[in-house]
Amino acid sequence: MYKESGLKSEVVDRKRLYELYDNGACHPMFQTSSGASNSVKQLHDHSNRDSRSDAVDTDSKESGISTGFDVKDDTSWISWFCNLRGNELFCQIDDDYIQDQFNLCGLIHQVPYYDYALDLILDVDFTHGERFTEKQYELVESAAEMLYGMIHARYILTTQGLASMLDKYKNHDFGRCPRVYCGGQPCLPIGQSDNPLASTIKIYCPKCEDVYYPRSKYQANIDGAYFGTTFPHLFLMTYGDMKPQKASQSYVPKVFGFKLHKP
Ligand SMILES: [Zn+2]
Repeated sequence: MYKESGLKSEVVDRKRLYELYDNGACHPMFQTSSGASNSVKQLHDHSNRDSRSDAVDTDSKESGISTGFDVKDDTSWISWFCNLRGNELFCQIDDDYIQDQFNLCGLIHQVPYYDYALDLILDVDFTHGERFTEKQYELVESAAEMLYGMIHARYILTTQGLASMLDKYKNHDFGRCPRVYCGGQPCLPIGQSDNPLASTIKIYCPKCEDVYYPRSKYQANIDGAYFGTTFPHLFLMTYGDMKPQKASQSYVPKVFGFKLHKP
């Protein structure tokens, strides 16, 4: 039902990232003695992206992180990120949008290691010649995912972003409603909060107008704030012809063929 990209997905322990940030690890780039890195599970091995395409075991890919950008390839970070399994819900944000500081207003206060994360997203060598440890790289990588998600929530409300999500909707990339009487209605991603770490992503069915957990375990850990509370509704207002008729049938509980008496 969900499109499987064939790429290995990992889970980001974002809460742990924030804990680190809150506990004074405000400049982890040069902090090496903390044992916290073991809890940061997501390793986007930027230096070895091509080989991750057929990766089976995340742990086996953990070596070599600290080497930074030794290996060059043509895949942008954004393209690589969006092709990870589970991340097919994200659309690719235009570089121009990200490079416009106006669009990023306020995010510096929401995302830790903002400058490094932004450089990573834009394929700028954030190390500037410095050698990073594995745990430092992990923190920047996790922050980059968070920053991308927060920018994504804004981007998909723009004309360009809505158009990009329309293509994915038509391609059924967001999954279908599990409710029988919705007849496989394609869904849209939604967050229950616009604040990060509040809740995970859900899928919204425009037919029964209800929300559900995504079926894919790879999608289940995505932060709902990366899509926000407005997107599916603005999407359906923008593309009115994509809005289905409301569900007319509903399930009727019966015992031996008789409807149940409602007290
Ligand atoms: Zn439905």
